Amino acid sequence: MKAFYTDHFVLPLPVGHRFPMEKYSRLRDLVANLSGIELIEAPSATDTQILYAHDPSYLIKVIEGKLSAHEQREIGFPWSEQMVERSRRSAGATVAAAKTALQEGIAANLAGGTHHAYRDAGSGFCVFNDSAIAARTLQKEISSTLKIAVIDLDVHQGNGTASILKHDDSIFTLSMHGENNFPFQKEESDLDLGLADGCHDDTYLHSLGKCLDQLDSRFKANCLIFLAGADPHEGDRLGRLQLSTEGMRLRDETVFQYALDRQLPIAFSMAGGYGKEIESTVDIHFQTIKTALQFQKQY
Ligand SMILES: [Zn+2]
Repeated sequence: MKAFYTDHFVLPLPVGHRFPMEKYSRLRDLVANLSGIELIEAPSATDTQILYAHDPSYLIKVIEGKLSAHEQREIGFPWSEQMVERSRRSAGATVAAAKTALQEGIAANLAGGTHHAYRDAGSGFCVFNDSAIAARTLQKEISSTLKIAVIDLDVHQGNGTASILKHDDSIFTLSMHGENNFPFQKEESDLDLGLADGCHDDTYLHSLGKCLDQLDSRFKANCLIFLAGADPHEGDRLGRLQLSTEGMRLRDETVFQYALDRQLPIAFSMAGGYGKEIESTVDIHFQTIKTALQFQKQY
C-alpha cells in the first residue's frame, strides 16, 4: 500500500503552539517498519488543482503572504513560505492517494483531512481543502463521470468541505461529528450526524452503520475519500466523545469493509487528533494504517 508523507515539510510554529506537528514524523517512523507499505514523498498540489476548490483571490493571498492578521488567526498558523509549501504538499498527498486508490484499491495520506478550509478562507489549522481538491481533481484529470463520496469521521464537522461542495451533486459529503464541538456554526453536508458528548462505541458504530446505509441508498459512488480523524477517541483533549481504541479500530474496519464489499477505491487521510498524550493519537493513526493494510490485500 502506498502512503504519501509530508512530515519533513515542517511548518514553523511558535513555542508552545497547541498544534501537535510532531505526530506526523512519529507516525511515519512507525509506518516505516511495516511490511507492505511503500512510503512516497507527497507531490505538491498545483495552482490549477487548488483552484478546482478555491477562489483565485484566496490562493493569491496565501501564496503572496497577504493574509490579514485576522485571516491568519482563523487558520491558527502564522503565515510563512513553509506554511504554503506544507499546505500544497498536504493537498497533493490526498490527490496522489486518490489517484493511486483508483489503480490499487487503497492508498493513504499520512496527514491531510483539512476539512475546515472554505472556498475563500482557511480555518481551524486548515489552509487548503484537500478532500475537495482531490475529488474535483479526479473528475477533471481522470474521468468527468466519477462520483465521489467523502466520508468524514473526524470529530469536528467537515464544514469547509460541505460548503465548497454544497451545490455539487457529483460529490456526496457525509460528516459524523460531535454536535457540541467546533465549528459551532455547522454547514449543511449531504448527510450530517451530530453525536452527543460522551458517545461510546456502541452508539457510535450503530450510527455509522445507519449513515453508510443512507449513503448507499442515496448515492452511487465510484470512489471514496475517508477522513479517519483520531479525535473521537476517549484520550483526546478536544474530542468530547468516548470511543475506545478498539471502537476506533472497528470504525475503520466498518468503512474499509464498506468500500471492499462494493469494490470501491478508497483514499484516506489522518485528519485531527489531539491526544492528552501524543502517543495515543499516533497509535490511533497507526492502527488505521494497519487496518487498511489488511484490506488492501483483498483488493
Ligand atoms: Zn478534528
